[in-house]
Amino acid sequence: MSRAGAGAWTEPGAFPIAPGIHRLPLPLRDDGLKGVNVYAIEDGDGVALIDGGWAIPEAFDVLAASLNSIGYRPGDVTRTVVTHAHIDHYTLAVRLRTEYGAPVAVGRGERDSLTWITGHGPRHGFQAAQLLTAGAPQLAEYMSRKDPAADPVAESWELPDVWLGEGEIKIGQRTLRVLETPGHTQGHIVLWLEDEELLFSGDQILPHITPSIGFESVPQPQPLVSFLDSLGRVRQLPDARLLPAHGPADARVHARIDELVEHHRRRLDQTRSAVARLASATAAEVAQELPWTRHERTFAELDLFNRTLAVTETRAHLAFLVHRGEVAASADDVVLYSVVA
Ligand SMILES: [Zn+2]
Repeated sequence: MSRAGAGAWTEPGAFPIAPGIHRLPLPLRDDGLKGVNVYAIEDGDGVALIDGGWAIPEAFDVLAASLNSIGYRPGDVTRTVVTHAHIDHYTLAVRLRTEYGAPVAVGRGERDSLTWITGHGPRHGFQAAQLLTAGAPQLAEYMSRKDPAADPVAESWELPDVWLGEGEIKIGQRTLRVLETPGHTQGHIVLWLEDEELLFSGDQILPHITPSIGFESVPQPQPLVSFLDSLGRVRQLPDARLLPAHGPADARVHARIDELVEHHRRRLDQTRSAVARLASATAAEVAQELPWTRHERTFAELDLFNRTLAVTETRAHLAFLVHRGEVAASADDVVLYSVVA
């Protein structure tokens, strides 16, 4: 495949990955990520999808046109295997089930968050409470108020047909190994095709950005510990071509994992230094000390949603340092962090 410019991966179409496997980029809305890759695998009866995309009309239209270009229609989708329960991966899968009956499978670790969201809506999870303890009351308010029109039914939040654990699934003649890789979310999974050296990595390993950690309705206690453990497990598999949910599909898995591990090592150093400079600080105050995104933006330059991700991420790094005994956390309602002498 051609190595086009960094943004070119979102161009709509059906791009061949291997015989009978295609990459179908779909658009997102109001999102810094620009697009999401859905992978279509021909299975003899139709196509199975890895990830579904976001249930917005423009994404459905692109999916229909891209499937059409390889001789299929949305009604030919036989099932959707979703790497994790974020809106940009999960909700179009539900829409396809509603309209065409294609069953939805997702990792069993997403059960808590999906049960919560289907009952309460995506905006009213424990994220807001977590932002309060992080010393970010304005962001907590923003999260519980964000898009008051959003309701679980309108956004296509329903429980899946299948909760996947570690194991194998057959798609046509192919056998894919399912690995549970908690971190980005608790129930994130990746799918490995050993014979063809392909890894459908979801958001756990992305080529251009570092995945957000622990942003979900029912948060995990130690998302960064889980994330780095999961990377370690995938690093032990033979190397493969990286098929990410966001970004082009031309990187190798091992090299990118090594970069992500190095990123978090540096980030933990920066976080510890920021706590030392501030002497005693909330997660929100530490987040304001750190550079953000690969463009090294200041916290103040981020929009509210990305500030929320930044504070959540900083909390995960602080929790990791507490876990390692390098930083202490106070027992206050708004937690204060200080370096352990
Ligand atoms: Zn995503």
